[in-house]
Amino acid sequence: MSFLTFNGISKRFPGVHALDDVSFGVARGSCHALMGENGAGKSTLGKILAGVYTADAGEILLEGRPIRPTDPLAARALGIAMVHQELAFCPQMSIAENLCLGAMPSRGGWLDRKALRAEATRMLGSVGADFDVDLPVGELTTGQEQLVQIAAAVGTGARILVFDEPTSSLSVAESEHLFRLLADLKTRGITVLYVSHRMEEIFRLCDTLSVLRDGRHVATEAVAETRPDRVIRQMIGRELVAQEPEHLRSTPGEVALRVAELASPGKFQDVSFEVRRGEVVGFAGLVGAGRSEVAQAVFGLDPAATGRIEVGGRDIPVGDVHAALGAGVGLVPEDRKRQGLVLALNCRENLSLAVLHRLSRFGWIDAEAESALAARYGDRLRVKTPSMESPIAGLSGGNQQKIALAKWLARDGSVLIVDEPTRGVDVGAKAEIHRLLDELACQGLAVVLISSELPEVMSLSRRLVVMRGGRVAGVLERDEFSQESVLRLMAGVGQ
Ligand code: ADP
Ligand code: MG
Repeated sequence: MSFLTFNGISKRFPGVHALDDVSFGVARGSCHALMGENGAGKSTLGKILAGVYTADAGEILLEGRPIRPTDPLAARALGIAMVHQELAFCPQMSIAENLCLGAMPSRGGWLDRKALRAEATRMLGSVGADFDVDLPVGELTTGQEQLVQIAAAVGTGARILVFDEPTSSLSVAESEHLFRLLADLKTRGITVLYVSHRMEEIFRLCDTLSVLRDGRHVATEAVAETRPDRVIRQMIGRELVAQEPEHLRSTPGEVALRVAELASPGKFQDVSFEVRRGEVVGFAGLVGAGRSEVAQAVFGLDPAATGRIEVGGRDIPVGDVHAALGAGVGLVPEDRKRQGLVLALNCRENLSLAVLHRLSRFGWIDAEAESALAARYGDRLRVKTPSMESPIAGLSGGNQQKIALAKWLARDGSVLIVDEPTRGVDVGAKAEIHRLLDELACQGLAVVLISSELPEVMSLSRRLVVMRGGRVAGVLERDEFSQESVLRLMAGVGQ
């Protein structure tokens, strides 16, 4: 008998079967991963356990006894707590007040501030955090806020903690702290349900993993007895074969983008490269090497930039977005939430933003043409959304990224710059984005691909520009690609 058992759990939302007869067990004191693509049902299952949702069918057994937490407080009383991605506290109240909500120490009817601070400090200490407990929660970073959530849970006696993609907005240092803390929680006998699709984390932290796909349970296995490629297959239900990109089979066309001696004070200097029609040219480099800054400058977003930019054989003024756009240059920036999409608009409206000039007649948007365009690209990119009228903010990262790419597809440009197109995107959507970039190159687009994932840039590019400290450290042709050659250039280590 498992410590914690899910038995035939089902949950429907209007239009979706989020969970369909899910059964598996979790051992006491284990770190149990819950894996699956976006929309697989992971968060829903975590929320049912933590009392945020109730299941339509099935039961949860804790030490053999059925439990049915109907709200988060009831779950807490059973020793179950969830660490949320979104803010879970009152932002204006201090850490101390938030931590002791519901159990404010008092003396003779007055709030005992000293006891409150001491108690909060003790709770924070138990998770290795030592911030000032008088700070308002609203001033904390996501990572710090998460520690406060964990402190609140552990400090009130939680035995089961559900983490939902805890590292998705943490820095590397914050993630490392969290991983140490997880190891420590385990030695204290706390059971962790760890939702993530980051393979490295699972293989490093977890003992067991369960895979969900389209709301169904696919497998539960010991981490020591499985392998990442097997888990990926279980997650997406098909084989991910790393094929040679199609675009490499044809000879590139004329030069679509030529950049010469591009410089921007304090950011980068002497950057020269060219991209032909039908080519994918990758940009590799460490964070801060200047790759995104170069991309922004080529797109005309850097007023301080100097040098020459030629698109389709014609010089365009440097530092002029309208000129770049007019010449057919597109940029899908790294931070698509802030720069690439308008979250308040729906999928269709986001798509047509870049092509409004083509869709409008005498200043009016041709609604029919707009819907047709949205339907065409939505289908072609296999965007998973209830409808193209749904708000873009509700889509998963991978699907938002597809819409951001489609915006430029619809524009028929000549040069497309994509900055970290698959960051934070799950494996299935990642493969689709790769295929899409390949297809774009096959159609004659010149693609500049910036990525910090070496396997990604190496597998998709015909040529690699490696940047270091704001300069081009070297350019490698495909037959010269190797992890070692690229890393040497990135780090500036001699041959
Ligand atoms: P995961 O966490 O694996 O990405 P979720 O559990 O969030 O998946 O979602 C599973 C399915 O249920 C998705 O299709 C999602 O759109 C849907 N869903 C989740 N929560 C709600 C909700 N509150 N209302 C409607 N549909 C929802
Ligand atoms: Mg989720």
